[in-house]
Amino acid sequence: MAAPAMEGMAVVAWRSVMVRVRQAAEKVGRDSDRISVVAVSKTKPVSVIRQLYDAGHRCFGENYVQEFLDKAPQLPEDIKWHFIGHLQTNKVKSLLASVPNLAMVEGVDSQKLAKHLDRAVSAIGRKPLKVLVQVNTSGETSKSGVDPPACVDLVKHVKAECPNLEFSGLMTIGMPDYTSTPENFKTLLNCRSAVCKSLGIAEEQCELSMGMSGDFEQAIEMGSTNVRIGSTIFGPRDYSKKQC
Ligand SMILES: *Cc1c(COP(=O)(O)O)cnc(C)c1O
Repeated sequence: MAAPAMEGMAVVAWRSVMVRVRQAAEKVGRDSDRISVVAVSKTKPVSVIRQLYDAGHRCFGENYVQEFLDKAPQLPEDIKWHFIGHLQTNKVKSLLASVPNLAMVEGVDSQKLAKHLDRAVSAIGRKPLKVLVQVNTSGETSKSGVDPPACVDLVKHVKAECPNLEFSGLMTIGMPDYTSTPENFKTLLNCRSAVCKSLGIAEEQCELSMGMSGDFEQAIEMGSTNVRIGSTIFGPRDYSKKQC
């Protein structure tokens, strides 16, 4: 009976994460209801996602398109799916067509990707798609995301040229090994200031997606509005026998 015990564990871990999110928010006088917790379910089976869904969670994140296309149709339509991380332009059409309940793309890092998304949304006639612009806050060339000084221009492009996209904020992954430092978070905060000032947007209208399993409490204390939590909820990922 190993499998049901495993599934129960994810729900237990999720409850504890939700408590930690609330405590981190309260510590700095923030309202935790305004912080989204994206349960990052990549490599995890549909059955475990379903357990969390049944426990009341609705916001999930995936970052491999093929896996996403396999799993999303097997799960309830009121799930708010986030695509997180790098998205190839040649996958945009199938992603939009297969996941009508795609709520947000966290990681627009080029005008080209924005254009592809805008066209795909228009082609299927769905409601505007929320997007976050991804910023490379580590300075490492290997990471996707625009350099901080370029984020204002990309946001301008999305707002001016992509009527089917709804600019919702900024996201960062952090360091190339998927950890983050306070400097990465600070850089994203500075980008938000620049974007809001330049485009006349209120800071509350610009989400900050930062913080993962290892650092979500610190990210919340620094102002994150969207944390992406995988292994702390679902356990370590095993890439050797991909279950999907
Ligand atoms: C996998 C992934 C996460 C979750 O990472 P954990 O450390 O397991 O919480 C968050 N963001 C992105 C972009 C990811 O690809």
